[in-house]
Amino acid sequence: MGPSLRLIALLLSLCMIDNIAASARSDEMRVTLLGTGTPFPSAERFGSAILVGVAGKRFLFDCGRGVVIRLTQSGVNPKDIDGLFLTHLHSDHVVGIPDLWLSGWFLGRTKPLPIWGPPGTRSMAEHLVQAFGFDIRIRQAPPDPLPAKGVEIDAKEIEQGEIYNDGLARVSAFPVDHGTVKPAFGYRIDSAGHSVVISGDTKFCQNLVDFAKGADCLIHAAWSAGWKNSTPPSKRSIASAEDAGRVFAIVKPKLGVVYHYKDEEGLGDAVRKEYNGPFVIARDLMVINVGKTVTWNGKSSAGTTPDGDKPRR
Ligand SMILES: [Zn+2]
Repeated sequence: MGPSLRLIALLLSLCMIDNIAASARSDEMRVTLLGTGTPFPSAERFGSAILVGVAGKRFLFDCGRGVVIRLTQSGVNPKDIDGLFLTHLHSDHVVGIPDLWLSGWFLGRTKPLPIWGPPGTRSMAEHLVQAFGFDIRIRQAPPDPLPAKGVEIDAKEIEQGEIYNDGLARVSAFPVDHGTVKPAFGYRIDSAGHSVVISGDTKFCQNLVDFAKGADCLIHAAWSAGWKNSTPPSKRSIASAEDAGRVFAIVKPKLGVVYHYKDEEGLGDAVRKEYNGPFVIARDLMVINVGKTVTWNGKSSAGTTPDGDKPRR
């Protein structure tokens, strides 16, 4: 990287606002839905990625298409992601990894990028290093080399249970039921008496229900309303909106959130068939604060309507 590029990278870093520290109380969790879409390309809804600001850390759950653009729109420099957690290795959850990893390095990361994920994560990381060998070599060459540590990936393969605990924040992983995709995981994040659960891709799953007990905010995949999906229920690998509604009805979160949907038609009504409590249909860049109360984009979950905000088209 030449001096002028280095200057641009530095200016970008300085311009990015520390949105976690500036906007959330220190004992609150701040969830930003960076990407709420599916493998189908959409300019409105990017690939799966959820940013969780918790106890001074910025954790990313999945790393789908466009994640670096959405992080930048949220005022977060990709170099400042403290850890990436993968629910499973379907491409729409991981294709953003090279961009997060290498752009984060270019923008100033000096430490390895930690990635937790299912078996196969370590192999993927090793092959990414091979695939991008040219870029890695060139950017470490004189006259303006980037630090070698910043392009390392610290890949850790997970199983059910607590996988991260720094005394202030805990992350637990639990297997979910994504059909033939085994293993696939969901995650629970706990801090200061507050909790967020992310389903990952799953159909109705009792293990998720068990791990989500008492969760303040439950973010659940829902492909479409059941009647919009031509695949028979027994052959589906991901929840319908009715399935997500059933999970919300059992867990009773302060706020249920449906994401990773392909078809929005009838989605809110389908959740409402099974569940009377507060929920919202996710949009890219929606922000949820999880503290004593749960609010999203400034609104209280107590006043949530099934449709949430209509998308801005
Ligand atoms: Zn999947």
